[in-house]
Amino acid sequence: MPASIIDGKQIASTLRNEIKHSVQARIDQHMRPPGLAVICIGDDPASKVYVGHKRKACKEAGIKSISYDLPAETTQHELIKIIDELNNNPEVDGILVQLPLPQHIDSSLVIEQINPDKDVDGFHPENVGKLALRIPGLRPCTPYGVIHLLNCIGETYKGKHAVIVGASNIVGRPMMLELLIAGATVTVCHRFTADTGTFVKQADIVIAAAGKPGLVKGDWIKEGATVIDVGINRLENGKLTGDVEYDKAKERAKWITPVPGGVGPMTVAMLLKNTLTACQKHQF
Ligand code: NAD
Repeated sequence: MPASIIDGKQIASTLRNEIKHSVQARIDQHMRPPGLAVICIGDDPASKVYVGHKRKACKEAGIKSISYDLPAETTQHELIKIIDELNNNPEVDGILVQLPLPQHIDSSLVIEQINPDKDVDGFHPENVGKLALRIPGLRPCTPYGVIHLLNCIGETYKGKHAVIVGASNIVGRPMMLELLIAGATVTVCHRFTADTGTFVKQADIVIAAAGKPGLVKGDWIKEGATVIDVGINRLENGKLTGDVEYDKAKERAKWITPVPGGVGPMTVAMLLKNTLTACQKHQF
């Protein structure tokens, strides 16, 4: 039987509605709405699209979004000065710096400058460290969104083998930590893994996050596995596709996410959730 499709759009929409109600409940109690500062530097078209989605989502949820659209020549010093101001602004609960940054700016240094309590992307070393120590603070949005999807389909983790394809700081590595916390046995494949297929073939849960269309072959998928495709790749014909051979994988998996409409919408929803969490924690 072909896999059931995990409708990330629907799951994200439900979550965004819940967040909207929580924001409204704050306002009804005469508290201020959560505030998210979104900083975008330069003219990268993909960044502009992502930032646009995030700002729109904030508006729909009643979260106050504060926009900084800065020129590509903005210096590291100028950016850090803005972050310091936002760190000290009691009406700002979350600070998001859209990546990638222009080459003359050191991304790691900028991320470290953000107050970890306002780091709604969950990339600050303190938040990543907390996740590694099983005391999560603000959690990286995409892996957090994947866990939310898995929980929504009733996935279980203990005794299960999860295989992640990709080991980046923003997806693969924090995904490994999330799945370990959940109780799965985790294998992480990356560009130096000799035979990724050998590992994927054993997986009860596959998380594909390499950014390589068709890398995960349909016949690698174990019968009945859950397949989460984080990859977003634009083909020459303009179509978006994931990292998994979707049509073939669908015939073997029990659950599968589509691209688009799977993990993508969850990342934005988790950003809103993190902003609300940060706001509730600040209680200003
Ligand atoms: P990245 O380029 O930083 O990391 C890719 C990872 O894949 C690396 O660890 C690399 O070692 C590994 N890799 C590359 N080739 C491989 C191979 N042949 N076998 C095994 N591993 C291999 O990318 P990223 O930022 O982590 O993003 C990965 C994908 O996820 C991209 O398509 C990106 O667009 C997408 N993404 C989606 C969302 C979302 O919201 N859905 C969010 C972030 C990233």
